[in-house]
Amino acid sequence: MANRITTRRGLLKQGVNMAVAGALCSLCAAGVTTPTLAAALTKEQRDKLTPEQVLQSLADGNERFRTGKMQGHDYIAQKRATRGGQYPMAAILGCIDSRAPAEIILDTGIGETFTARVAGNIANDDLLGSLEFACAVAGAKLILVMGHTACGAIKGAIDGAELGHLTGLLEKIKPSVVATSYTGERVSKNYAFVDAVAKTNVIHTVAAIRGESSVLANLEKDGKIKIVGSMYHLEGGRVEVLS
Ligand SMILES: [Zn+2]
Repeated sequence: MANRITTRRGLLKQGVNMAVAGALCSLCAAGVTTPTLAAALTKEQRDKLTPEQVLQSLADGNERFRTGKMQGHDYIAQKRATRGGQYPMAAILGCIDSRAPAEIILDTGIGETFTARVAGNIANDDLLGSLEFACAVAGAKLILVMGHTACGAIKGAIDGAELGHLTGLLEKIKPSVVATSYTGERVSKNYAFVDAVAKTNVIHTVAAIRGESSVLANLEKDGKIKIVGSMYHLEGGRVEVLS
């Protein structure tokens, strides 16, 4: 599975490298290595992928990020390649936290993933509608719910913080605080507890997507998509798949 994706990416890179080779010939002559550039996904390439292959591709991207071997992204070329249409392979539902930008930590480019971000990566009606669009209309094969360690929204829910519209959002996370079994100190200063609640919250969001969207639940039952939970570890940079 991994080999097939590697091959696809390898071919993409090769194609783009050939395209830029002419422009970089003076650099080549000077002994400068041609950079590896990632191209945007075409419809044909995306449609061939299975949900499992998409998950593997994102895992490969996270591994590149974690080890400092990210692809070079020619955003101008990707912008040009996607101006007539988009064929993203996945939809990521993550937190707004500035330290958890999905495209960077999964090493994806323009046109590869839909990215929905909301504090505490919860799924309300509007987010479910966005995910339904991503999968049922635009053809994404995977929904990746991505929580993260040391999440401020989770800490706020544990503390019962109240502030404007944030109060209502944190109410949606509170059931995860109650549902988390944990024998140590159940306070926001205890990062182990915060991370345990964040994990419960991801599991609840995955269940909410399946339970509240018959569109997405049916796509998953038919094997057309996969809905997967994950936790991004700020320390070390690993995206851990939970389900
Ligand atoms: Zn967060």
